[in-house]
Amino acid sequence: MDDVAVSAPGREACVRLDAENPLASLRDRFRMPRDVIYMCGNSLGPVPVGVPERMRRAVEVEWTDDVVRAWSSAGWHVAPERVGARIARLIGAADDEVIVADSTSVNLFKLLVAALRKNAGRKVIVVERGDFPTDMYVASGVAELLGGEVRMVRPDERAGAIDESVAVVALSEVKYRTARGYDMRAMTRAVQDVGALMLWDLCHSAGVMEIALNDCNADYAVGCGYKYLNGGPGAPSYSFVAKRHQADLRQPLTGWHGHAAPFAFVDDYAPAAGMARLRCGTSPQFSLIALEAALEAFDGVDLKAVRVRSEQLTSLFIDLFDAHLVSRGFGLVTPREVERRGSQVSIAHAEAYAIMQALLAKGVIGDLRAPDVLRFGLAPMYVRCVDVFDTVAALVEIVDGRVYERAEYRQPGKVI
Ligand SMILES: *Cc1c(COP(=O)(O)O)cnc(C)c1O
Repeated sequence: MDDVAVSAPGREACVRLDAENPLASLRDRFRMPRDVIYMCGNSLGPVPVGVPERMRRAVEVEWTDDVVRAWSSAGWHVAPERVGARIARLIGAADDEVIVADSTSVNLFKLLVAALRKNAGRKVIVVERGDFPTDMYVASGVAELLGGEVRMVRPDERAGAIDESVAVVALSEVKYRTARGYDMRAMTRAVQDVGALMLWDLCHSAGVMEIALNDCNADYAVGCGYKYLNGGPGAPSYSFVAKRHQADLRQPLTGWHGHAAPFAFVDDYAPAAGMARLRCGTSPQFSLIALEAALEAFDGVDLKAVRVRSEQLTSLFIDLFDAHLVSRGFGLVTPREVERRGSQVSIAHAEAYAIMQALLAKGVIGDLRAPDVLRFGLAPMYVRCVDVFDTVAALVEIVDGRVYERAEYRQPGKVI
């Protein structure tokens, strides 16, 4: 990379920035995959160091020796609440406002139904075009089930679309494709000003920035366990319900684990007090245990400092983009204003698919969002400035050498 027209840090400068990083040692809390640059923590986080030993104990001690007794003796039964309390501290909630159970899609279903029942008389669910598809798909399923209506709006239409017919607005705090972020406080207020409820999806923000759900007066939230929380493939998701909504919360999946007395085995349903009523069936213990051990990577970590590092990484990527990638046919998808973006940089290119295949072959792991967006998740606890530099350098080589034209990189159908 020898473009001289625009000044951007060189590789040595990046090495220096990493040496000065006050959070540099946090990378040692992860087993980073060997011989690759990992830019995909926004899809699946790497393994935190405490997880393998904790999983071994879960199998070899708890399951092997305790067997069914482990539901009490090893605390398996209360794991959804216990792990929820750990996550609560990362998202500005009280310990008893968060519970871990099911997938994000399922939790969206439970909370959107609860919101429509709470705001009875109103029928509209507002979602935003370009948000993560499952959020919109689930909203349409809920609307069909309850005789509601989904109002799908573009960001520029949002102001006019949120009126007194709206029961609930569901939005990602940071968009998965663009990394565009919201002012959670202002948005929550605007939604509540017309009497609607606010449901935040934190999948792409929790773990990489400070989140203050209660300070912002959020009503509901969901988020996933396997992205920046590093809980492992298919890790369960969490739900947040503000204390003021818990007593009359009516979610539709009334399974036995959400019953007030699950082991009384009575015939009639009565919801548990508090967040436990969001449980449905038996929880996946190994997944919960992996997530719990993974969350230890956040012990003592100041998310304000994590956000500072995140801004440094994304700003560096954009500086390098300006210096080396604009001239090579790439467009910036992520907002330039630092306060309007999450911890990811997305860039577009007409040859995005083949470029990503070539990049993967070089050992740089990012991903593609069809048709033309290349995403790079810059997880601030382990991604280094030098990784950002090397990623951009690899993109330059791929384009300048027309590596993406090779047939092997043009075979369709790869997942990332
Ligand atoms: C990753 C993600 C999901 C994932 O949903 P699952 O049901 O856990 O597969 C949902 N919503 C958003 C915004 C996401 O980024």
